[in-house]
Amino acid sequence: MANYYNNNTVIYHNGEFLKAVDAKTDLYGQSLHYGYAVFEGIRSYKTTSGETKIFKAVEHYDRLQQSALAVNLPYHWDTEELISATYELLHRNNLQDAYIRPLIYAPANMSFVQNKESFIVIEVWEMQPFLGEKLLKVMSSSFQRPNPKGFKITAKVSGHYVNSILASQEAKAKGFDEALLSDINGFVAEAPGANIFYEKDGKLFTPSLGNILPGITRATVLEICKEKGIPVTEKQITTEELLQADAAFFCGTAAEVIGFESLDGIVFKKDWNKSISKQIQDAYKRRVTSSSSFIAEPSKEKFQQEKIVLQ
Ligand code: PMP
Repeated sequence: MANYYNNNTVIYHNGEFLKAVDAKTDLYGQSLHYGYAVFEGIRSYKTTSGETKIFKAVEHYDRLQQSALAVNLPYHWDTEELISATYELLHRNNLQDAYIRPLIYAPANMSFVQNKESFIVIEVWEMQPFLGEKLLKVMSSSFQRPNPKGFKITAKVSGHYVNSILASQEAKAKGFDEALLSDINGFVAEAPGANIFYEKDGKLFTPSLGNILPGITRATVLEICKEKGIPVTEKQITTEELLQADAAFFCGTAAEVIGFESLDGIVFKKDWNKSISKQIQDAYKRRVTSSSSFIAEPSKEKFQQEKIVLQ
């Protein structure tokens, strides 16, 4: 297991910076008992000019809010304040390349009634690419993604990740690196914690929205393709079709962009290094560590000024 914290690690907990080892939570919490919480997975990078940049911070904290509202968890935080607190938290933990995990959780409540309050914790730690850096041996999972009529599947709800854990553990127990889950209609959906694209004859394909988490990295890949003039089609994809692809990759904040070696033991035809997918992987790496933002991040300067005041 990774080392998430030590005696000096600082977390942000309900407006305060305190040591992880001193923080307390409630064992009667509705979140712990029922998986009723929402979270984000964000990354910060040391940019080429040496400063720390949280990649797509606004998009991630906005999604945190949307996730909370989708499941009726009270949400009274401001995206800009949380981004500012996150920069401060990275600074206090002396981290630049980090994984950032905000979690909104419920109070003690064993019933199903709506809460009047909720809490926030933000934790940061160093994390290598979630699925490693080698091409992946992927397995078609026996598990399907949750039914969109049974869950708010566009929200990052803690309880949904039991499905992810089952699929990932099944794949690893069978000697694969990661699982690929289908949707309730049997079409290719996503990985336990990442979206999927495949490449065929110079074009990219990805499952359309509706049965998947609309990933922020997926959106970034779409932006990169637009800039590079690579055609992308969003559609329903079958496993048979995917097996005919030249190359395929998963993408997500934690996993970044990582290619497939094989699916169900069938090796992809194209040399990864000669694929368009590899160009996208490289472009993504450049983008997250770029000091000049491609996307306007208007409030960043403000956060840096605020950081100076906070110090
Ligand atoms: N699908 C699932 C199920 C996920 O958990 C994640 C990770 N958040 C993704 C896709 C990728 O989303 P993002 O690019 O926003 O990290």
